Amino acid sequence: MQNTSSPLLWDIQTAHKALKQKIISSKELTSIFLKQAKSVQKDYNAYITICEDHAMSAAKKADEMISKGNINILCGIPYAAKDNICTKGILTTCASKALENFIPPQNAFVIDLLDDCGAVLLGKTNMDEFAMGSDGQSSVFGAAKNPVNALYCAGGSSSGSACAVASHSAMFALGSDTGGSVRQPAAFCGVCGMSPTYGAISRNGLVSFCSSMDRIGVITKNAYDNAVVLNELCKHDPNDPTCISSNTQNFTDGITHNACKLKIGVAPELFDGDIQPQVKKACLDAINKLGCMGFEIIEISFPSFEICSAAYTAISYCEAFSNLSRYDGIRYGSAQESFDNIDKLYTQYRSRSFGNQVKKRIMLGALCLNTSYYQKALQAKRIIKQDIFKCFEKCDVIVCPTSPATAHKLNSSNDSVFSDMLTVCASLADICAVSINCSHDSNNLPIGLQFMAKPFCESQLYKLAHAYEVQNDK
Ligand code: GLN
Repeated sequence: MQNTSSPLLWDIQTAHKALKQKIISSKELTSIFLKQAKSVQKDYNAYITICEDHAMSAAKKADEMISKGNINILCGIPYAAKDNICTKGILTTCASKALENFIPPQNAFVIDLLDDCGAVLLGKTNMDEFAMGSDGQSSVFGAAKNPVNALYCAGGSSSGSACAVASHSAMFALGSDTGGSVRQPAAFCGVCGMSPTYGAISRNGLVSFCSSMDRIGVITKNAYDNAVVLNELCKHDPNDPTCISSNTQNFTDGITHNACKLKIGVAPELFDGDIQPQVKKACLDAINKLGCMGFEIIEISFPSFEICSAAYTAISYCEAFSNLSRYDGIRYGSAQESFDNIDKLYTQYRSRSFGNQVKKRIMLGALCLNTSYYQKALQAKRIIKQDIFKCFEKCDVIVCPTSPATAHKLNSSNDSVFSDMLTVCASLADICAVSINCSHDSNNLPIGLQFMAKPFCESQLYKLAHAYEVQNDK
């Protein structure tokens, strides 16, 4: 547990203890975080909306809950949510013009869960438009910047969530991860990002991008905090048929026990290709350290790695095409121009409302659906899954870099397929994966290390991540 004096640097356990012992109230803690969020907003652009009044009244409620003896660990803790997670009465834009005025009538299931805990929502974070991208630059509100160096991007698509945590503007943040959007910005900003198993957390109220792979994930300063938050989010939701019904795991219990018994698999394919030499070296060094810590390291093989990016692209573009058909200027958004017929209304509204990245995916998704690409990609997904499960016959956790490169400069273009190549595997295989910081490059930009485990084995990821962080004083 950290014992630093500024509450901005506290971890969740420290804050919880201080709240319980009435060393600080949630109103005071929330004010401190709101002040920080507002003061760094012009530097980093982490938030799309900071909901000060809402946060202060939630903090007041939390203080009342604490005085009545509420001991939930998240009670009174300030957090942020990505702007594609619906919040009742609070603007939810998906960083798109298409939803610039959208105020949801309901909370996402996860927001309700956090409300019940007494957690305090500070605001909604910046992101790539409709979560499509890997550097935050497709946001209609401008990109979030990397708190380590504001000339660089914060990663994406959950750019603002990683930025908010790394800039001490929220104690934790929710993001969404379809092909790496929680893990990759976490890696770029030097924080911890978990993409839990598909179905572990309800997607009810998360704006859909690619429904078969979308997940809500958690970004925190460290792995322990992450486990604390995930404990509260893995609850069954009868309104999401893809959400599993019995999740009784506790991710913090036993986090320090028997970590060294885990077998770690290294697939050479995941270290090949155009991985930046500094990233490769840092991750191999980290694996050596894990070996020295007593973990057994074995070599595994992942031959279908080379088809992951193509399969991910086809599946995600096709599903995006389908999911985004609902934005027609009638059900969502408002068509402002005059029109003679319904087709013109749709065309005008959609041409005006979507950015280039979204339009590209809608068009290519339509094209893929007109051929047999979607079916072929689903076949590839099955092969990838089989391959990964074969690896898990030999090891408990697969390790590799989170991203082949560190953060790139803002306003430079990036190749999303290249950026995502190491994160999409876990998304396609429906397994869980976490990114932690393992080092920095020569520009001091963070380097992320990724661990992947079998479905619903988040506990193993947290054990390993926590052991690594403690040993290396992260
Ligand atoms: N960068 C990937 C993409 O653009 C992943 C996005 C995500 O996980 N939401 O598709």
